Amino acid sequence: MNSKNWKPETQAVHCGWTPKNGETCQLPIFQSTAYKYSDAQSVADLFDLKSDGFFYTRLANPTVAAFETKVAEMEGGVAAVGVTAGQTANMLAIMNVCPCGGHVLASAALYGGTVTLFTMTLKRMGVEVTMVPHDATADEIVAAARPNTRALFAETLTNPSVCVLNFEAYSEAAKRLGVPLIVDNTFATPYLCRPFDYGADIVTHSATKYLDGHQTSIGGVIVEKGDFDWKNGNFPEFTEPDVSYHGLIYTKDFPAAPFSTKLRVQWVRDTGAILPPMNAFLISLGMQTLALRMDRHSSNALEMAKFLKAHPKVAWVNYPGLEDSPEHERCKKYLRAASGVLCFGAVGGKEASVRAIDSLKLASIVVHVADVRTMVLHPASMTHRQLSDEQLAAAGVPPDLIRLSVGIENIDDIKADFEQALAKI
Ligand SMILES: *Cc1c(COP(=O)(O)O)cnc(C)c1O
Repeated sequence: MNSKNWKPETQAVHCGWTPKNGETCQLPIFQSTAYKYSDAQSVADLFDLKSDGFFYTRLANPTVAAFETKVAEMEGGVAAVGVTAGQTANMLAIMNVCPCGGHVLASAALYGGTVTLFTMTLKRMGVEVTMVPHDATADEIVAAARPNTRALFAETLTNPSVCVLNFEAYSEAAKRLGVPLIVDNTFATPYLCRPFDYGADIVTHSATKYLDGHQTSIGGVIVEKGDFDWKNGNFPEFTEPDVSYHGLIYTKDFPAAPFSTKLRVQWVRDTGAILPPMNAFLISLGMQTLALRMDRHSSNALEMAKFLKAHPKVAWVNYPGLEDSPEHERCKKYLRAASGVLCFGAVGGKEASVRAIDSLKLASIVVHVADVRTMVLHPASMTHRQLSDEQLAAAGVPPDLIRLSVGIENIDDIKADFEQALAKI
């Protein structure tokens, strides 16, 4: 049976590790730096990328490879590369296609860490990023491009404003510009949405979030769809010999997965950004229940969104799963369900919102989302505090916004906790 055709619930359990006769059912943790060979030629062939195999864990490791395969198959891509963090995934996805002196277009509604990465750190490295409004049309995105634009970047479900990406507009713009559409699919996970089905070329994840799901590991992963035309003239690094790798030409020597091969043998090899095997094991373990968890996260979040919306102490609620949400049509079009994150503001503004979260007992204030526990955060004073007022507005983060990451606990207990906390304001 071809695991590529399995439904996502089955893939989440089985992909990546297929034990042979007498082998362990659970994915083994290959906690080893290197691999033993009995003749020099075998190692030479590995170095020349003429044969498949492992020679040094800074490039590849069997436990990490199993995790990469699971994510690649669930996303419907040809290959994936596991890296140290979601931040690394987004940075290297850009660096792999956009050389120093290049330009990137990105939706302005992004995770705070991505905004600082794009506007500060990439700039220091010679890459300029222009933000376009989240709701920009294809024409508006194309109008913001420059001759040196090399990528278009957006999030499926934005963190923390939970807006849904207009895949149609963004993928049309990317096609017209001849650049890859890179989509951060962290909040949706491949169970709720597969961006490749809607025109994305590269998918990134902070595996730290729902893929792990239990707060054990920081990790990231980058997935390649496999049909982007790197020979369109915009990407000489893919079509001309790589002097750092004996004149390898990625599109010629690795036509099935040129992006992932280049990413691994240039960027991951040279920066040491590979995901540690232990984290790959823990995230793969978490992923075995991904489908079950995402169903529960989504149904609990919908219940909480309805409960908060009807509550007299709540000023507003934003959750794309609500039928009257302006994001609802798009959510139904692209996502199986609306995932577990919502945001709301308390009546009385910023102070009231902060007082409400300070009074929670079951839900905790944690600088994290997408975990089995219910957690809250006030971005304006925490994760997004580096951002200016204009950047906050562009990212869709009003000062009273509370981000609520709804866990998988019993919904009645979560509701009771918010009922008692809201009574205190
Ligand atoms: C958390 C997050 C990141 C960064 O991931 P880390 O694993 O913390 O580095 C990137 N994008 C989104 C959407 C996130 O939620």
